[in-house]
Amino acid sequence: MLELTSEQISMSQQAADKPAALTLLADCLQADGLVAEGYLAGLQTREAQGSTYLGQGIAIPHGTPQTRELVHATGVRLLQFPDGVDWGDGQMVYLAIGIAAKSDEHLRLLQLLTRALGETDLGQALRTAATPEALLKLLQGAPQALALDAQMITLNVAADDFEELLWRGAKLLRQGDCVSPGFAAVLQQVAPLPLGDGLWWLHSQQMVKRPGLSFVTPAGPLRLLGQPVNGLFCLASLGEAHQALLERLCTLLIEGRGEALFRANSSRAVLQALGGDAPADWPSLQVPLANTHGLHARPAKLLAQLAKGFAGEVHLRVVDSGEPAVSAKSLSKLLSLGARRGQVLEIIAEPAIAADALPALLAAIEAGLGEEVEALPPMAAEVLAEAVETAAQVCAPAAGSRLQAVAAAPGIASGPAHLQVLQALEYPALGESFEAEHGRLRGALDKVRADIDGLIRRSTAQAIRDIFVTHQEMLDDPALAEDVVERLKQGESAAAAWMAVIDTAARRQEALRDALLAERAADLRDIGRRVLAQLCGVETFHEPDEPYILVMDEVGPSDVARLDSQRVAGILTARGGATAHSAIVARALGIPAVVGAGEAVLLIEPGTPLLLDGQRGRVDVAPAPDVLARASADRERRALRLAAAAEHRLEPALTTDGHVVEVFANIGESAAVANAVAQGAEGVGLLRTELMFMAHTQAPDEATQLAEYSRVLDGLGGRPLVVRTLDVGGDKPLPYWPIQAEENPFLGVRGIRLTLQRPELMQTQLRALLRSAGGRPLRIMFPMVGAAEQWRQARDMVARLREDIPVADLQLGIMIEVPSAALLAPVLAREVDFFSIGTNDLTQYTLAIDRGHPTLSAQADGLHPAVLQLIDITVRAAHAQGKWVGVCGELAADPEALPVLVGLGVDELSVSAGSIAEVKAGVRALSFSQAQQWAQQALGAATAAEVRALVETA
Ligand code: PEP
Ligand code: MG
Repeated sequence: MLELTSEQISMSQQAADKPAALTLLADCLQADGLVAEGYLAGLQTREAQGSTYLGQGIAIPHGTPQTRELVHATGVRLLQFPDGVDWGDGQMVYLAIGIAAKSDEHLRLLQLLTRALGETDLGQALRTAATPEALLKLLQGAPQALALDAQMITLNVAADDFEELLWRGAKLLRQGDCVSPGFAAVLQQVAPLPLGDGLWWLHSQQMVKRPGLSFVTPAGPLRLLGQPVNGLFCLASLGEAHQALLERLCTLLIEGRGEALFRANSSRAVLQALGGDAPADWPSLQVPLANTHGLHARPAKLLAQLAKGFAGEVHLRVVDSGEPAVSAKSLSKLLSLGARRGQVLEIIAEPAIAADALPALLAAIEAGLGEEVEALPPMAAEVLAEAVETAAQVCAPAAGSRLQAVAAAPGIASGPAHLQVLQALEYPALGESFEAEHGRLRGALDKVRADIDGLIRRSTAQAIRDIFVTHQEMLDDPALAEDVVERLKQGESAAAAWMAVIDTAARRQEALRDALLAERAADLRDIGRRVLAQLCGVETFHEPDEPYILVMDEVGPSDVARLDSQRVAGILTARGGATAHSAIVARALGIPAVVGAGEAVLLIEPGTPLLLDGQRGRVDVAPAPDVLARASADRERRALRLAAAAEHRLEPALTTDGHVVEVFANIGESAAVANAVAQGAEGVGLLRTELMFMAHTQAPDEATQLAEYSRVLDGLGGRPLVVRTLDVGGDKPLPYWPIQAEENPFLGVRGIRLTLQRPELMQTQLRALLRSAGGRPLRIMFPMVGAAEQWRQARDMVARLREDIPVADLQLGIMIEVPSAALLAPVLAREVDFFSIGTNDLTQYTLAIDRGHPTLSAQADGLHPAVLQLIDITVRAAHAQGKWVGVCGELAADPEALPVLVGLGVDELSVSAGSIAEVKAGVRALSFSQAQQWAQQALGAATAAEVRALVETA
């Protein structure tokens, strides 16, 4: 950290010119052990790239990125040149601050110098300063800016009288380190000044450390001297720092806009009204800063010059910094932002000049503001995309429009839009006392715990109960509690401490590469919000009576689980992916859901009729009456169809022309077999054994596995069991099996690649499987096979084990999930007994779209003709060798995919138990020869949408 101290200053230096001054500085830095020999070259190169003259007689010479390795320790040395040194362009330097920094710490120094740079005659004062202390005072003692930020504002204070309100206002100033203890008592001696509109003003210069202004409003009606008290300003007065603000406040009151202050619902709104911030409706554009060393003096100077060219106000702020925007015309203000490479800047301009200024400044920043810039890594580009998306005026979707998003829970629903946009809750940063805040937090946690207990008791679905049990565990997590207590001890309020800890934990979770684990961050934020709502005394949800479509930004699992599925017809969210807990809960409750539809949906007018198709991920906004009528007829027909299908679920599935398609079940545990058979499963087509491994705290031994597999076979009563060997990896880690973090786990050591590296584990599983079979039909398949050797090694392993464990009816196959395996199918088909196509992975690898991607996964459609080509190759290769092919990915249960898969000749479809009856009914409604024709047409299509259109209109 760079700080300025008097020991760093050498007074009364002399240098004939700039090179001599640089040599002096380099010698000084080197003599003090901050840099190695050769740093001078860095200082010179840097000056050659552009002068480091800052203004006010100050220059800040520093090295280049190439000379950073010569820096032993970060530090600064200050040389005073009373005679001045010409720094080029006639700019005289009286103080040169030489910086040795390994990274961009000089930005911090620039922030420190910001106030000094605002002074008009500092150069002369620096020149004549007699001692290091005097010089330092000049740098630090320039008039201080008025402290006024969101932390200085508290709205709706529970105050019984004016004194209590005054006390809170004074406390904010004290917390902001503007005043010493006792300032409240000083203010109590001051006569309050009524400003009009129920606003009051108090100020004092006593006990003031730095100038600051606080603003508090009472929660209930208060009166003083017969007048209402709607808000109180408390000023810690020092010099003229408050002048500008006072002028703006007077203007506001003269214009009769005082209400904007005490009726504001957020601190930001108050700041905006006071003019500290640009009005919310000024146009803005966002752009990431790519300059290697951030917005340092040179680029900032250029930006300020450009901004000055426009006849109107231009502001700049660092998005997500929490700091207000500053004038882009002021070099010192720009430097005070301390903007670093990769941070997103928001340029805000007053409407009259916005059309010209915004694109011009954006282009200049993008071009590097006079510096060569290296493109930002994709992460930053993504932030930009998001930021630009936010900045682009998002409009509510028009009536009659159709939105395409991620299908999260099937079913068709219609109803008026009911928007639940989370309100930003305001809370103080600092607390009353440790005891009070700790007690408050304990109370809120107890209340939320009790709520969750109730939810667990009321939930009939296991999936929902499991989620709430996880929430309980999160609430009771001792690590979270410790961190919160630590913060409370530092003086934070319960709300601030709790939210800071939750935010850190959620960010950590979000950074995990596994999409499923990362989505657990939503659960953390969910409980975070609930506890915060308790702390702020806010109800989080009010449910209307009529059946509606719930529209939210991101829906938390507990939001969904609290819903009455009789009244919530459907769910539509702006963000989120199909594998989020909320989607799982929606599916468990049978509520159709479409997620990740974008921010525009949050602007839908409440009450707008919506038609939601959770199967296709579509939403029609204010659809025409005939569209609505068709949908409701469709829904009724579908309900009737499902009821009829259920009646015939135990019968085989034959097409109208007698072609048989087997319909099996996907399961993850032995307990699910009975239901699968009851729903009409003709076998298990995919036993995901990793789910069983995940349910244990350590790898289950052979006996445990044997018992589990035997239970599945018992439950199947002679029907075939297709088992997939352990399919885990960096994307799906087992808690007790540490796997090295990988840059790209989906392309890393997963599936068979991993188990072949752990032959003892694989052999244990295979032995348990072979032992469980006896005379019963067992099919073993290997996941993620992409090369013939992998399959052969696995096959040979089984062959060796089989010498000791005889099995009467065994087939060995592979999953087709990797495009290379599909393309190799003609070769592999000669060796395997069957193929089972995992369309979930096959689609992600073919289309190069992460299957869990929150925004792209909607495009990862298994009906893409490229995926269909691979399925076609696989089926033809298998049939040429007399082998069978199944499909066990989600595509098998997609009604629109059914005719295509059957037409391509797939012999078996393996789906979740709940879909079996519907799939069988779908097969029965098909003519095989017709399906074959559609399949051929689908292979010739260009897009998944074309394929869907083909079967929809067929
Ligand atoms: C698949 O990839 O289609 C598949 C069935 O395997 P999983 O979804 O378990 O990866
Ligand atoms: Mg898979």
